[in-house]
Amino acid sequence: MRSINVMAADPQVEARKAVSVDPATGVRLRQWDCTSEKDVHLAVKRAGAAQTGWDDLGVGRRIAILRNFQQLLYEKKSEVADLITKEAGKPSAEALLTEVLVVLDAARFCIDHAYHFLRQEPLPHGNLAMKTKAGEILRQPHGVIGIISPWNYPFSIPATESLAALVTGNAVVLKPSEFTSLCALELASLFHEAGVPKDIFQVAVGDGATGSALLHADIGKLIFTGSVATGRRIAEQAGARLLPVVLELGGKDPMIVLDDADIDVASSGAVWGAFVNAGQACLSIERCYVQRSLYEPFLDACVRKTKQLRVGHGSDRDIDVGPLIHERQLHHVEAQVEEARARGARVLAGGKRFPEMGPNFYLPTVLSEVTQEMAVMREETFGPVLPVMAFDTDDEAIRLANDSEYGLAASVWTRSRARGEALARRIQAGTVMVNDAVACFGISEAPHGGVKASGMGRTHGNFGLEEMVRTKYVDAERLPGVKRVWWYGYGRTFSRQMEGFLELQFARDWRSRLRGGWKAAGALARKGRL
Ligand code: NAD
Repeated sequence: MRSINVMAADPQVEARKAVSVDPATGVRLRQWDCTSEKDVHLAVKRAGAAQTGWDDLGVGRRIAILRNFQQLLYEKKSEVADLITKEAGKPSAEALLTEVLVVLDAARFCIDHAYHFLRQEPLPHGNLAMKTKAGEILRQPHGVIGIISPWNYPFSIPATESLAALVTGNAVVLKPSEFTSLCALELASLFHEAGVPKDIFQVAVGDGATGSALLHADIGKLIFTGSVATGRRIAEQAGARLLPVVLELGGKDPMIVLDDADIDVASSGAVWGAFVNAGQACLSIERCYVQRSLYEPFLDACVRKTKQLRVGHGSDRDIDVGPLIHERQLHHVEAQVEEARARGARVLAGGKRFPEMGPNFYLPTVLSEVTQEMAVMREETFGPVLPVMAFDTDDEAIRLANDSEYGLAASVWTRSRARGEALARRIQAGTVMVNDAVACFGISEAPHGGVKASGMGRTHGNFGLEEMVRTKYVDAERLPGVKRVWWYGYGRTFSRQMEGFLELQFARDWRSRLRGGWKAAGALARKGRL
C-alpha cells in the first residue's frame, strides 16, 4: 500500500526504527524502518500533485466519503478499540469512549458543518467610498497539511485533525508517534477503504527526525501535537521558513474545588480526571486546589476512591487504570513523586510502581502537603498523580491556578454556576469547565487549544476548520466602466472635496455632515482624472 510504502528503507537510516510495544506486557508488536527524509519529501510531492483533484471533487463528494469512513469505523469500533488498547495500554472502555466515539462525533461535525463553512460568504462593507464593490470571502485549502501526533491519544488526535484537513480539500501526510504507528496505519486503512485516495492520506512512520523532515518538506501548514520542548523547536524552525503552524502542547490543568462544591461528585471527578489514561492526558487534572473547609473530607474521599481503582491490563474489561506507555514515562512520574516526598509531601495512596502487573505500571497516587514550588505542581506529570493543596479565598485560587507557564485547560467545582463561570473568566486557559474536566475534548463543536506555553491555534469545531484553510478576499467592482474618484489627478479642489467627504461621514452634527456632502459631491464629476 502506497501510504505505508513511504517508509521504504534508506541505508543511511537503517538503524532508526519505530517500534510498537504492548505497554502492559512489554511484548514487541511490530517494528518499521523510520521513513527517510527523501521518502517524506516524495510523499509530500505525491500528496501535492493529487490535492487539486481532491479539492475539485467538491465538498459534497468529500462529505460522502467521510460518511463512508464514519460507517466503517462504527462497524469496526471494537476491533479498533482493541488495537488502541494493545498499542497504548488504555482500558478498552476508554479506547471506545475517548478515541472511537470522539472520532465518530468529529466526523459527524464535519459532515454537518463543512458545506456551510466552505460556502462563498458575501462581505458587506460600510465605507461609503467602497459602496460600489461586491466582496466575498473564500476559504481555500492550504494544499498539503503535515500532521505530527503523539502517542497518548494515538487514534483520536490524528483522526480529528485529519478529518478537518480532508473535508476542507487538503491532502494529509501524517507522522504519528514512533510508539503508536499501528493505530495510525489503521486510520489510513479506514480512510482508504472509505474512498480517500491513497496519495491524499499518507502515513510516514518514524521518529523525531522523520517529523523534522515533514516540517521541512513542501507542506502548506503543520498541525503539531506533542510536548512543549518539541513544540518550541518546531516553532523556531517553522518561523525561519514562515510556515504556519498549530501547536497543541502540554498542560498543567488546575482543578479548583470551592467551599460549596458537592464533595462526592468533585472527588469522583478528581479521581477520574487525574487517572484517566493513567494520567497521560493533555487535558487532565494535574493539580488540585481545595478551599480549606472542604480540604480534609475531599482528600479522604479521593484517597478512598483511589484505593478502590483496579489497575491492570487494558484488555481486561474489569480494570480502571492501565499501564504507562514506557519506562521513560514511568521514571519521569516516579522522579516527581520522590521529589515531592523528599520536600515534605505525604503519599496517601499509591506512590510506587506495580511490577507484579507488568513492566510499566504505576499505582494511582494521591499526595497531600504539597507546595506550589514542587515539580509535581509546576511541571507536567503526565502520569497517575493527584496532588491536593488547600487555599482560602477565591482570589488565592485564581492566583495559584494562573501561577503556571501552561494554560491548556482548567476546571472549577461549585454548586453555583454563576460563581463557577465568574472564576472561569479569570483563569488563563484555552478551556475552563465548570463541574467537569477533560470531557470538552469530546465536544466536537468546542475549540481545543491552549494559551501561554500550551500552544497556539485551535483544533476542533469551526475554529479547527478555520485553521485548515487560507482566507481569501475577492472583490468585484460593480461599475467597471467608471474610473475611481480617488485616482490620480489630485489638486486643491479635490483635497477640499475629500475634506467634505470625511465631514459627511464623521462630523458629529448633521449640519456639518450636510455641508460636507455638498462639498464632496463635486468629486463625482471630477474632470482631469488620469
Ligand atoms: P513529543 O513532543 O515527544 O512527540 C510528539 C511528536 O513529535 C512525535 O510524533 C515525535 O516523533 C515528534 N517529534 C519529536 N521530535 C521532533 C522534531 N524535532 N521535529 C518534528 N517532530 C518531532 O510528545 P509525546 O511524548 O509524543 O506526547 C506527549 C506530550 O504531548 C505531552 O506533553 C502532552 O501534554 C502533549 N499533548 C498535547 C495535546 C494537546 O492537544 N494540547 C494532546 C496530546 C498530547
